[in-house]
Amino acid sequence: MSKGKYANIIIDISHENVDRPYTYRIPDELRDSIDLGTSVTVPFGMGNTIRKGFVVGFSDYSELSEDKLKFIDSVPEKNISLTDSRIELAAWIKRNYGGTFSAALKTVLPVKQKIKAVVPKIIVRQVETSEVEKLIELCPARSSARLRLLNALLYEAIIPKRLANDKLHISDATIVKLNEEGVVDIQDMPKNSGMGQTVSCNSLNLSESQKNIVNSVTADYDNGIYNTYLIYGITGSGKTEVYINIINNMLERGKQAIVLIPEIALTYQTLMRFYNRFGERVMVMNSTLSQGEKYECYKKALNGEADIVIGPRSALFVPFKNLGAIIIDEEHEGTYKSETAPKYHARETAVEIARMNKAVVVLGSATPSIDAYYKAQTGEYKLFELNERLTGNQLPKVEIVDLRNELRRGNRSIISERLGALLEDRLSKGQQSMLFINRRGISGFISCRACGFVVKCPHCDVSLSLHKNGKLMCHYCGYETENIKTCPECGSKYISGFKAGTEQVEDMVNKMFPTARTLRMDADTTKEKDSYEKIISRFLDKEADILIGTQMIVKGHDFKNVTLVGVLAADMSLFEADFKAPERTFQLLTQAAGRAGRGDVAGNVVIQTYQPEHYAITYASKHDYNGFYDEESGYRDLMDYPPAGHMLNVMVSGKKEEEVNLLATQMCTAIRKYFKSLVIGPAPAALSRINDIYRFVFYIKDKNYNELVDIKDYLEDSLTKIKKRTCTVSFDFDPQNMQ
Ligand code: ADP
Ligand code: ZN
Ligand code: ZN
Repeated sequence: MSKGKYANIIIDISHENVDRPYTYRIPDELRDSIDLGTSVTVPFGMGNTIRKGFVVGFSDYSELSEDKLKFIDSVPEKNISLTDSRIELAAWIKRNYGGTFSAALKTVLPVKQKIKAVVPKIIVRQVETSEVEKLIELCPARSSARLRLLNALLYEAIIPKRLANDKLHISDATIVKLNEEGVVDIQDMPKNSGMGQTVSCNSLNLSESQKNIVNSVTADYDNGIYNTYLIYGITGSGKTEVYINIINNMLERGKQAIVLIPEIALTYQTLMRFYNRFGERVMVMNSTLSQGEKYECYKKALNGEADIVIGPRSALFVPFKNLGAIIIDEEHEGTYKSETAPKYHARETAVEIARMNKAVVVLGSATPSIDAYYKAQTGEYKLFELNERLTGNQLPKVEIVDLRNELRRGNRSIISERLGALLEDRLSKGQQSMLFINRRGISGFISCRACGFVVKCPHCDVSLSLHKNGKLMCHYCGYETENIKTCPECGSKYISGFKAGTEQVEDMVNKMFPTARTLRMDADTTKEKDSYEKIISRFLDKEADILIGTQMIVKGHDFKNVTLVGVLAADMSLFEADFKAPERTFQLLTQAAGRAGRGDVAGNVVIQTYQPEHYAITYASKHDYNGFYDEESGYRDLMDYPPAGHMLNVMVSGKKEEEVNLLATQMCTAIRKYFKSLVIGPAPAALSRINDIYRFVFYIKDKNYNELVDIKDYLEDSLTKIKKRTCTVSFDFDPQNMQ
């Protein structure tokens, strides 16, 4: 774009009322340093407060006469500017997910300021491994951090210090001590670190099916075909090895790669596999990095000094110049959807980034999201399967325990006889067990403990939630009905809300097995920094017999000594008031089952439930993804839920309940008048009040995503016309969670 007379600038304030480009004059002395995307400061508003902003365009004309226009104030040297393609990407995000342009610009710019870059350090072993073995023998058992580092040094001559800190949970003091003893040296990561050259895993012979994937993707790429691929393969089937080989081919072609892995699955072992293969060409970008470390990554990517970035969702925006591939592992994970505006989905955004950069996208999962598998069925994505476990471990034996029978037998505890007996057995054998409570946030549904009946909305087929006013309510459509005292199916009195927390379970386990050592992992026990890693390593070090926890315990980690996994009440995630509840339950149960028997001993899995015949539970127990997919996608088709159709969730919030309700209602009325899409609601949100802010939601359903985008644009546009607005409105396309 040629530079026009005036610059159009988006002000760095995330409010809809100022979310449009403002026109400024360009002072002569700044003309050379101002380009599309330049970060500038400008006087803004009545008081001419100096604000930051980004140049998003130029023009020769202005609605205001020139003497009324203000001048750009400065181009701060410290600020990072955007490139054209980033502005284009931000515009795409804003259009497809809503939110302000300014918020979208910030999303695509993961690092804001040029600050002193912090060069990563590496720990370099200085002695022979035989020497390390001796030190391990001499090391007192209570120095567990020192032991962990020494054990890691047996396998690796060089370990990035960040990984030792973050993933092995080893403090600087421990590292410095070993340095003083001459066992390790601490160095800046050099250009040629020596990592990634000598390691045996370089030369794995790919299986035929692995080769087929790597070769097809590479051949497509070489032929100028930039597809999205989905690899459906159980854990241990060799997906990561496939990613590594695709990346290798990209590097050989002078291209770069972005690898997304959910933060919780970014384990030391996985990261070391990448370092061992690609050395210092790898950058890891996670939430614990300092601004200086992040800036170092950003700079290296821009300058072409690194070729691979591994990280969670936001690593997607690392600005490589020659991007060849974006890999998304555990593609089904909910964390790939941003929960703050703009609520973008990393998978769809990756596909767009790949389109803009002529790159390929490779998705992988053991339990593909219904969304992705659907696209693989319709041909939008290309599907590959990996069917064998290369590690040779057997899939565990999964049993379903019908909790209704327990009640009949007079056992009212949350641990069935069968699970109790297996726990006892494992304790006597010195093997470890995990008890999993698949509960997320609030689950206010009502169910019968005698027959399993669950109260559902007659219109939306999602569970009704018990509201504070004592009524049962649907958070999709607002349908309301009186709470019930006896089960309409069987007449039992045991019908109530479903509540059991990790703490109660731990108490109960301690009572049943007084000598068992337990560890608990949930939102409470993982509040502090590093506490998550600490609990994991304590369990790995066999400091406990039973680990009790929420879904945090079933993701990512390999516990070799665990031979029993108990799912206490599969119903808890099954009947969340959300159409995605069965999908999430299937994924969670499959993941939980995958935790049993990772070592040499085959494992047992016990799934306790009041609904033993529910398809999400039976298919998970048979390890049958395809069966589950067929049934679930049929249901989505029937109900027009995504991926068969699309949904837009609009949340209106504010301090005055009547105003919030009124605005939500007016919006619904207007949409019903001007658009053909189906509007459901408004209804109070599942969390209808937080910190005295009232929240109402409504849903819009349409087969066509772009219709929903048009409705969002219409609502945003009409909002800017309300002068003194006291309510906030936010948009969530194809929501991951019920609001
Ligand atoms: P996934 O990512 O699907 O869980 P991985 O790529 O981690 O699977 O592979 C599981 C295990 O099998 C790893 O220990 C890996 O080193 C090993 N592995 C992968 N591919 C091969 C292969 N072609 N030959 C031998 N071992 C392999
Ligand atoms: Zn009943
Ligand atoms: Zn409803």
